[in-house]
Amino acid sequence: GAALPVPDKQVDSVCPYCGVGCQLTYNVKDNKILFVEGRNGPANHGRLCVKGRYGFDYAHHPQRLTTPLIRRADAPKDPKAIFDPERVHEIFREATWEEALALSASKLKSIRETKGPKALVGFGSAKGSNEEAYLFQKLVRTGFGSNNVDHCTRLCHASSVAALLEGIGSGAVSNPVMDVTKAEVIVVIGANPTVNHPVAATWMKNAAKNGTKLIVMDPRQSDLTRLAYRHLQFKPDTDVAMLNAIMHVIVHEGLVAQSFIDDRTIGYEELKKNLVGYSPEEMAGVCGIDAGTLRDVARMFATSRASMILWGMGVSQHVHGTDNARCLIALSLLTGQIGRPGTGLHPLRGQNNVQGASDAGLIPMMFPDYQKVVEPEVRARFEKHWNLEPGTLDAQPGLTVVEVMHAIADGKVHGMYVMGENPAMSDPDANHARESLAQLEHLVVQDIFLTETAALADVVLPASAFPEKTGTFTNTDRLVQLGRQAVTPPGDAKQDLWIIQELANRIGLQWNYRHVSEVFDEMRHTMPSIGGITWDRLEREHAVTYPCMKEGDPGEPVVFVQDFPRADGKARFVPADIVPAAERPDSEYPMVLITGRQLEHWHTGSMTRRATVLDAIEPDPVALVHPLDLEALGVKPGELLTIESRRGKVSLYGRADETSPRGAVFVPFCYYEAAINRVTNDAFDPVAKIPELKYCAIRVTPGGTA
Ligand code: SF4
Repeated sequence: GAALPVPDKQVDSVCPYCGVGCQLTYNVKDNKILFVEGRNGPANHGRLCVKGRYGFDYAHHPQRLTTPLIRRADAPKDPKAIFDPERVHEIFREATWEEALALSASKLKSIRETKGPKALVGFGSAKGSNEEAYLFQKLVRTGFGSNNVDHCTRLCHASSVAALLEGIGSGAVSNPVMDVTKAEVIVVIGANPTVNHPVAATWMKNAAKNGTKLIVMDPRQSDLTRLAYRHLQFKPDTDVAMLNAIMHVIVHEGLVAQSFIDDRTIGYEELKKNLVGYSPEEMAGVCGIDAGTLRDVARMFATSRASMILWGMGVSQHVHGTDNARCLIALSLLTGQIGRPGTGLHPLRGQNNVQGASDAGLIPMMFPDYQKVVEPEVRARFEKHWNLEPGTLDAQPGLTVVEVMHAIADGKVHGMYVMGENPAMSDPDANHARESLAQLEHLVVQDIFLTETAALADVVLPASAFPEKTGTFTNTDRLVQLGRQAVTPPGDAKQDLWIIQELANRIGLQWNYRHVSEVFDEMRHTMPSIGGITWDRLEREHAVTYPCMKEGDPGEPVVFVQDFPRADGKARFVPADIVPAAERPDSEYPMVLITGRQLEHWHTGSMTRRATVLDAIEPDPVALVHPLDLEALGVKPGELLTIESRRGKVSLYGRADETSPRGAVFVPFCYYEAAINRVTNDAFDPVAKIPELKYCAIRVTPGGTA
């Protein structure tokens, strides 16, 4: 046979997909990635999953955007259409960078001047680097003039972060995933790591095989449940009932860590009072887990030498997402299971840089490093950092992702800059989101493909794929890692940092960043948590964990050892009561829809569905339905079915799947031809504004159009 091509260079980088942050090496020849190998990083020890190993050739896909595009005057914005990227030239004409940037800048400036700074919004992305996120939020705050900047963290862990900031003063994890190997009990709740954090799941499986007690709490089964000591398959939407019952046992059986509570927490009496009505006997009927099991799990968690909790979107994406996370925090504080190796709280981050993008200030209520926009001394500090006149920065938190779509519909927002985000696919009630996007006076989208969002844009700016640029990315463990450029962008596509800066300067800012390291250097001087990390050190060591306040600090993988970063150094218990889902099943819409991801595809699918191997494994949109439900519906596995809610409907193929409970259908949100978010509900958690992507009422009928 023909000899395999030999790479002409190897470039060390990190995986572009999930928050595990596996280190890898790109093997490159003639500006093409030939193959990818795992590298010995702290999070992966050489391992990679199918996405990291085979998901790279999207970067070379023929549908890459290679030149700026301007919408044709006669091309209507059709929010209902399923857009075909092959027809790009019917809607857009090619333009020069100068023409495209000048057009967007003048439109955005004119909206700012005629309708005010709050009529503009920016959506950044957790796919970008820390430096891109930082410059993007700086552009919105200093160029647009408001805090209307957000990104997909709002759809992901916003509620976890809100609860963590409130309870323990920090939104990040207390321990790295790898600490599961030091734990005696591991609780995984509302997460399917085998699918969404595959390499992290391997450490959990190893631990379980070595005798660690793995407790999975989830309405669905997963690969992990097969290795679990207990699977608490609670009824969807009953997390608070179940967790309060577990805490009830711990309090009433005297299993609390009293000295930890006395020395390091406040609010215990309130929590205790609130738990009175949550005995396991009373809650068993609510959550579907018998009292004996709840008691057993409570005792095991409280009395183990080291118990660790890891959670995902099943906890966060509810109208009571913040309450769910409050319960997990309370459980860990109650038992003193935090602040040591192998114990603590770990919200498993979804995208490879959702931690970093949030840290860098891509959120409407905080400047970088979670410094609140409402605090005058914080604003004064950033005005000084950014050479602004005192009083320039907006004192009001900006609009969140879901609020933005409503504000457009209400005529309050008119212009938008979207970098690498795909709200037409990822936002709940996507039909409404698309109508809003289509209604904008000016939408400029910076991306690598003509996404469903870009199809509604006025101007499209061709950006760089992950292996085409250098920058830092922060994984779920708070590990700041260096991603390095391996290939150059195709055609006239540009690096994102360049695009942000060019647009910034055309709307009146005067920036002159010549290298990504200059942006990082500015960041570390405004963000105390990474203050000690230098670019040189990242070049040398590839990865440094924060907090790393001073140069030379080793970084702290385990935090809260002595105190919590709250005003008094103490953590706070926040009690929670049962709040039902916003939309419950009824006779018209009798089933429940749960959305999520699948192993081979990433989020809205724009990258992985263009990766040859991944798309070959999972080419078609599927709905996972319990076999008995399929039978009752009269649908054979592989046949089409239609899912409909009060907001929209899609047709896709039914797959018999025993992992879903009866009455609940699971659908991945990556398929543009059956965009399930057309069906989901945009009701959101009042604290964190995260939408209820894990629960809405649907009707399923046989047949449909593919
Ligand atoms: Fe990439 Fe996550 Fe897979 Fe690691 S586990 S290779 S970071 S997708």
